Amino acid sequence: MDCDEHDDFECKFFSTGAGCAINKDLLVKNYGVCALLKLLLLLENPETRANCQTLIEKPIKLEDYRHNDGGMWQEHEEQLVKPIMSSGLPEAIKFQEVTSDLIHAYCIRIDSHAFEVTARDGDTLKGVYICGASLPHHCVPNTVLALDEQFNMKLYAAVPLKAGDIIYNSYTNPLMGTTQRQHQLRLSRHQECSCSRCLDPTELGTHMSSMKCRQCPGGYAICDLSGSGDWVCEGCGAVLPAAEVHELLAEVGAALVEVQGELPVFEALLAQYKPLLHPNHFLLLDIKQNIASILRAAILMNSLAEPCKKLLERRVQLCGDLLPVTRAVVPGISKLYAIALFEFLLASVDLSEMQFAESDVTKQEYVAQLTRLRAIGKEALDLLRLEPENSAEGYLVERIGMELERIESDLMKYGRL
Ligand SMILES: [Zn+2]
Ligand SMILES: [Zn+2]
Ligand SMILES: [Zn+2]
Repeated sequence: MDCDEHDDFECKFFSTGAGCAINKDLLVKNYGVCALLKLLLLLENPETRANCQTLIEKPIKLEDYRHNDGGMWQEHEEQLVKPIMSSGLPEAIKFQEVTSDLIHAYCIRIDSHAFEVTARDGDTLKGVYICGASLPHHCVPNTVLALDEQFNMKLYAAVPLKAGDIIYNSYTNPLMGTTQRQHQLRLSRHQECSCSRCLDPTELGTHMSSMKCRQCPGGYAICDLSGSGDWVCEGCGAVLPAAEVHELLAEVGAALVEVQGELPVFEALLAQYKPLLHPNHFLLLDIKQNIASILRAAILMNSLAEPCKKLLERRVQLCGDLLPVTRAVVPGISKLYAIALFEFLLASVDLSEMQFAESDVTKQEYVAQLTRLRAIGKEALDLLRLEPENSAEGYLVERIGMELERIESDLMKYGRL
């Protein structure tokens, strides 16, 4: 067995130490317990115990989580607590008494301090960062996180900060609507958010949770946050009861879970719900993003019957729809916006080249398009300037560089009139 890659203490514990009788299938059958095992053994090891002190000292009220949490407790119980409690591990741990409640508390502590980390092999891992997770939450963060090759977390200002400004991180997906972000936050951090975006029914003017009015043409209904909680049309004042809105969202959400990446199904969903939701509604954006990524693959493999130019035009449109919304909810230096710009750039360069090759546009128009796209590429690069080279984002930097070279070379060829 190759023991170079893992920790000495863990190795001895499981091979010849107190844990030698534990069935090695524990981890194979319950991969989710990995982080818990790590934590328990870091605590068991006198040399590493002190490193975990801040994490396990964080006060949490277990009773707040035991009830009313949307099934998370039960999920932990089935997938993590039971397998650990019946594995023989509690008996092998000497440092502390391992009880179900202790494991539950560790689950919550780990999850509320966890960040998504991309491993060297491209896998997504859970990284526990105590300082990183201690920043207060805001749905529009003013900082940006970057992980270096050693998985050290670095925190940068995403927007200009003044002395005395509170430094925020965001622990939710900014491309979700307010109700959904708050739900996520309640589950992961047991927190209610009352940030400026959450208190604004238009969500910073993006209308990511707004509905189409059923009574007047062109009207949009926004949530009456301080009053009834129903959606009220900004144009005619018609009321759309909250229960109806939630029911509709649950219906679309459930339909999205069912789709297995089939383009016609996404298209049908888009057509079905477009008349009911604001064009920037987060569920429509989700569907559009799915369609755009399927189109990207289809264009590459030339797998659809439709002409490539039509597909590219559609992709440019869909990727473009996402840009202003993303910009509004993650201002300043943002990976998410950089990725959105890259997708738009990729589709647009392909389309412009094709339009020029087929004489749809003149040389002057082509040069003007390329000049505009060059600025977009440079903006995306600038947003990624804090990312280390050999990370997933570093790879993106390389890809954007390639697109920029393509643009430059055509500008050299056709730019001098
Ligand atoms: Zn070993
Ligand atoms: Zn918020
Ligand atoms: Zn109306």
